Amino acid sequence: MMKPSIIARALRKIDRELQLSVIKETGASLRNLALSESDLAKRQDEMLRRIVKHAYETVPYYRELFDSASLKPSDISGTKDLYKIPVTSKHDLQNADCISSSFDRSQLLETTTGGSTGIPLHIFMEKKTAARRVAEGRRILYLHGYKAFYKKLILAFHTYTPDFINKLGFYRQEAVPWDADLKEQTDRIASYKPDVIEGYPSRLGLLADHILLNEISLPKPKFIVTNSEMLYPEVRDKIERAFGCEVVNVYDSEEFGQVAWECTRHNLHVNADTRIIEILDNGNPAGQGTPGEVVCTDLINYAMPLIRYKIGDIASWSAKKCECGIAYPVLSGITGRASEYLVMPSGKRISSTVVYIPPSIPGIVQYQIVQTAPACLDVKIVRAKDFTEETARKIKEHLTGSTGIRDVRLHYVSSIRKTKRAKFRRFIPLSNHGPGKER
Ligand SMILES: [Zn+2]
Repeated sequence: MMKPSIIARALRKIDRELQLSVIKETGASLRNLALSESDLAKRQDEMLRRIVKHAYETVPYYRELFDSASLKPSDISGTKDLYKIPVTSKHDLQNADCISSSFDRSQLLETTTGGSTGIPLHIFMEKKTAARRVAEGRRILYLHGYKAFYKKLILAFHTYTPDFINKLGFYRQEAVPWDADLKEQTDRIASYKPDVIEGYPSRLGLLADHILLNEISLPKPKFIVTNSEMLYPEVRDKIERAFGCEVVNVYDSEEFGQVAWECTRHNLHVNADTRIIEILDNGNPAGQGTPGEVVCTDLINYAMPLIRYKIGDIASWSAKKCECGIAYPVLSGITGRASEYLVMPSGKRISSTVVYIPPSIPGIVQYQIVQTAPACLDVKIVRAKDFTEETARKIKEHLTGSTGIRDVRLHYVSSIRKTKRAKFRRFIPLSNHGPGKER
């Protein structure tokens, strides 16, 4: 799931002029938060018509897709007609001609998705689009009280080189290398005194355990932003306790950048001014509270339009109307990867979330469940000091109880291997295990 790395890489490539355009775009992006529901709908309809026409005229993949469905751009007057366009998956685009002929490929920025579900997909965009994504990232920070002179410390995977704007004291950020040990990380927080920390939930979770266990006192950031991976409630809880501040979660993807983000009330609003999000249950719009596949349309990437693209995550719409004043629709949460189901001994596939070990079972720093066969689960566990035989028994009981699988093997390890991009996966499905694989 999710991804800020595109922003990191884009920032490095964006020239000075574009840095200034990021600032301008941030202003525009912040103003858009005041759009009413009807203004948003009107904006989405207009932007959708424009990108559909552009995609049909300049992208061979979409021309073929529309022709095969006997569709013309004029058939799409707005979001109400979206259903007419066939859904596209990553697999559909891997060997397709999906770059717009209006652009010179050598002038485009490129990023790559991970490859847990097969070959990675290369995503191309104009610098302008990348600048907008950076601006949208800043919008989330501003929404939570960020100031341009704040310092941000990044605990993710990518590194950053300060540019001229950072050297002037604006948007300062530094990254702690992903392989730094826990002490190095806390030392860095103590010396850098970040106003904001941003990072992967798994990395911040391990750091939180270390801070809590050793009762380390650190300068308190104003807030913490998590992204790129699923944020589990118990991980959020321990990060908030260890750092003494709130966590703001962002749901992002390499293909789209920010897809949804938490407002000050911690509701997960979709990025509705530049993306259209649909939740599909067996191809039809899912009702409130019904989990379905996340399908996204990017309204700003003209270099490589993504229209009704299945991200591969499962989420549901919230029935809640957020009181923060932002009219963007609210997701009730991301519940998992569509591809990460568990196969029960009966052959039935169920969401892997059912196997997650409940936080009420103590003594676990981190764990990963690997389904190695239809009737076998391997559980890698990094034990905390309070791990006992009773903990082991409870884990087995929970897993057998929720899946019917009796062959549950516990392996005690000192750390759990991450994906190539240092992301943590809690569950590795049957079809897809191997440490190098990632999404
Ligand atoms: Zn809100």
